[in-house]
Amino acid sequence: MDPKPKKRVFIGLLVLTCLILSLFTFLLWYIPMVGLKNIHSSLPLIYSIVLAVFVFFMFSGGLLLVFTILRGKDILFTQKLRGIIAKVLFPLMILMGRIVGVSKEKVQQSFIELNNHLVRSNHHRTKPNRLLLLLPHCIQNFDCQVRITGNIKNCERCGRCEIKDLIELADQYQVKIAVATGGTLARRIVVENRPEAIVAVACELDLTSGIQDAYPIPVIGILNERPFGPCVNTKADIQKVKTALLDFLEPQFLSK
Ligand code: SF4
Repeated sequence: MDPKPKKRVFIGLLVLTCLILSLFTFLLWYIPMVGLKNIHSSLPLIYSIVLAVFVFFMFSGGLLLVFTILRGKDILFTQKLRGIIAKVLFPLMILMGRIVGVSKEKVQQSFIELNNHLVRSNHHRTKPNRLLLLLPHCIQNFDCQVRITGNIKNCERCGRCEIKDLIELADQYQVKIAVATGGTLARRIVVENRPEAIVAVACELDLTSGIQDAYPIPVIGILNERPFGPCVNTKADIQKVKTALLDFLEPQFLSK
């Protein structure tokens, strides 16, 4: 797995999509013109304006995204941009990736990094009790008999897996922490806890669907490490989790 997934995969696919859509729009504009003129003399003008507005919004959105990424700051509508990327562009980029031979996993990694960048650009801050650290069940040691779904604090903190460190980190900053065995439970945890922001650790698939489902709640996604393959004894980079928590906490809660 590429340890540093690149935003530019997503941006590259986006630029390619914009170019293809522009060509498609041009054909849509050019081909039916004569027929429209025969129906009514003002129809070609109305049709051209509609297509021009479409192209304008498409390129403005693309440029806004690129500028936000380059500047690393919220320029305009970052929140809305996140939603459009998660709900509309991401499925489209998966499709485009398939056409040009970019793996689904790479597009997902790129989407996660892009999402994190936009969330951080927005400087969304919250109190510890409205911040949720959501973990996948596969971080728990496979041989551990303690049941931590439902209540992660059942963990006996033996240190055989990183659940211990993550609980200590959550306790240090007084943030909520929970373990989910899948998307359904993750959604229920979010509904019950009503967080204002989420730091989630998971694989590409769960993170991308989680980010999409949670919108408009901002999520910083951290890919888990899988030294023993998927879903068994996975690991989280504690420093990355800590940085993500600090990125969400209001300044008065940071001095610990
Ligand atoms: S730290 Fe120990 S008790 Fe806690 S979940 Fe991991 S293996 Fe189980």
